[in-house]
Amino acid sequence: MSKSNQEVMGDGVMGVGENTRIFPDVEACIDCGGCVVACKRTWDVPRDEQRISISTMLEGQEGEGGLNASSGRAMEQGTSPGETSIPMQCYHCDNAPCVSVCPTDSLVSMEDGFVNVRDSLCIGCQYCLSACPFGAPQFPDSDEGVADIVGSGGTMDKCTMCDERQEVGKGPACAEECSTDAILVGDATQIADELERRDSGVFFNDVAMEIIFGDDAEAF
Ligand code: SF4
Ligand code: SF4
Repeated sequence: MSKSNQEVMGDGVMGVGENTRIFPDVEACIDCGGCVVACKRTWDVPRDEQRISISTMLEGQEGEGGLNASSGRAMEQGTSPGETSIPMQCYHCDNAPCVSVCPTDSLVSMEDGFVNVRDSLCIGCQYCLSACPFGAPQFPDSDEGVADIVGSGGTMDKCTMCDERQEVGKGPACAEECSTDAILVGDATQIADELERRDSGVFFNDVAMEIIFGDDAEAF
């Protein structure tokens, strides 16, 4: 293992508790699924639901001026377009679109910076699913709560940031399990500094970064 790879190991969880953020280092993710398994095991997440999933996409090939990336063109030319894997979960956005659209205030931004779902208020309208840029809201079948009476029958579920683990000083299960420390946990400055130390890029565009980090997006 090279020195740089050794340096990446063991630095994923840099802090826990209030104002902790969670963010992917897409250059470290190896698409192994360890985070998905850790989350399911820790929280008994049902088989057909995922609080975290890995999105893998072909990178394509740069066109003129860096535009018009095309994976098809790369393959036509007999080269591998490469791929990027992104651990996708609720990033507990500072400007959370889901909180804005929820008609029953089931979704709330908590003082500690986490976005919580109040199950008893969710009517299963799925507005939050349309609003979330990261596909975080899940709708497992449920036969209890107002969603069963009023809406589509599914109460929204998503990543909780492992708030119960953080309350006792532990990191999120997915981040602790990740063998390459591709899930970073800490405040915005710690995450930005760690990405810079690793020479890893930020995957999301400026608009997404402002949704996730608000004013703290300036740290990146
Ligand atoms: S599905 Fe539930 S949490 Fe989502 S917007 Fe509707 S009421 Fe709010
Ligand atoms: S922070 Fe916890 S709940 Fe969220 S994806 Fe990771 S393991 Fe699952």
